Amino acid sequence: MAELNLTGVAKSYGAVDVLSDIDLEIEKGEFIVFVGPSGCGKSTLLRMIAGLEKITGGTLEIDGEVMNDVPPAQRGVAMVFQTYALYPHMTVRDNMAFALKIAGKPAAEIDAAVANAARILQLDSYLDRLPKALSGGQRQRVAIGRAIVRDPKVFLFDEPLSNLDAALRVATRIEIAQLNEKMPDTTMIYVTHDQVEAMTLASRIVVLAGGGIAQVGAPLELYERPRNEFVAQFIGSPAMNLFAGEIAGTGAETVIRLDAGGVARSTVPTRPEDEGRRVNIGVRPEDLEVTGGEGIYTGAVEIVEALGEVTLLYFETDCGEASVIAKLPGIHTGQRGRSVTLTAAPDKVHVFADGVSLLYRDA
Ligand code: ADP
Ligand code: MG
Repeated sequence: MAELNLTGVAKSYGAVDVLSDIDLEIEKGEFIVFVGPSGCGKSTLLRMIAGLEKITGGTLEIDGEVMNDVPPAQRGVAMVFQTYALYPHMTVRDNMAFALKIAGKPAAEIDAAVANAARILQLDSYLDRLPKALSGGQRQRVAIGRAIVRDPKVFLFDEPLSNLDAALRVATRIEIAQLNEKMPDTTMIYVTHDQVEAMTLASRIVVLAGGGIAQVGAPLELYERPRNEFVAQFIGSPAMNLFAGEIAGTGAETVIRLDAGGVARSTVPTRPEDEGRRVNIGVRPEDLEVTGGEGIYTGAVEIVEALGEVTLLYFETDCGEASVIAKLPGIHTGQRGRSVTLTAAPDKVHVFADGVSLLYRDA
């Protein structure tokens, strides 16, 4: 049985529908990450699970029980916010113990819970400090510790790292990944707009867009087999390039004649009736290669960004669309202004018709 079950969950504020028809099953111990553009409803969905926001349609079950009208404290969930909201006049120990004291738990039980959380979070030597004597990353760990002591079935995180500077964000991200390993039975749901966090932490990513779920899957599944153009361009950086064209050969290998003059081959299979169909092909910047022969795209290099391990080449397209970007391994300076032809291995060429990947059309 799923730990969390969302069936047709919806949220509207008056006449404004923010989310609708959210169907999602989450198994015990999973690490689920919600990603999506700003304002797409990530926090709203998390807050509905927490009970901080009323569900206006559908059903939320946790551990087999309908939770729609159950108050937050009785749902077995604990939430960690972007702002740590620690009590400034209380030590780390007292901050972590506070909720249990309020709940009237015996002192021995509280001490054991705090000691356990401190051990998991490596806060043992900071228990007598005040929050002002801690770094941002340590404060966020205390906030997580406050959630751990309550022994929740489900942990909810809303962009917990976005107030930290880059180096601390990386370190704390790794700690959160380890947290999940130390607490394998606790389900985690984590909201972020940071792709790297999503790709590295998630057992499954839920991509939210346009008020619904665009795709749910393991990180590399979304990267390798995006269901639609939105997911294709949302996951991966720089974003996947799209080229408009028409199917000119069908079968186990599909040939696409591109509007800009190039030709692409794809291992995405097509049927005879697809001949002539308008499609967009998608190729990730890292899958483009410079070729001497037939290619997907030929253009002059406008900008070169040498990052050391990789070089980004930018091409301006005639159609005034987004520029084409190629990411080549290693250092390639002196390419600026040069005309280059780009190609890709057929198994790296995605094909979208009406915005949806042809890989999924029967699924
Ligand atoms: P995200 O976390 O993905 O950035 P939110 O869940 O915070 O997005 O918000 C989703 C949408 O709901 C936004 O368009 C926001 O303006 C709207 N919204 C959030 N809270 C309210 C509210 N109390 N009243 C009206 N609209 C709201
Ligand atoms: Mg938010």
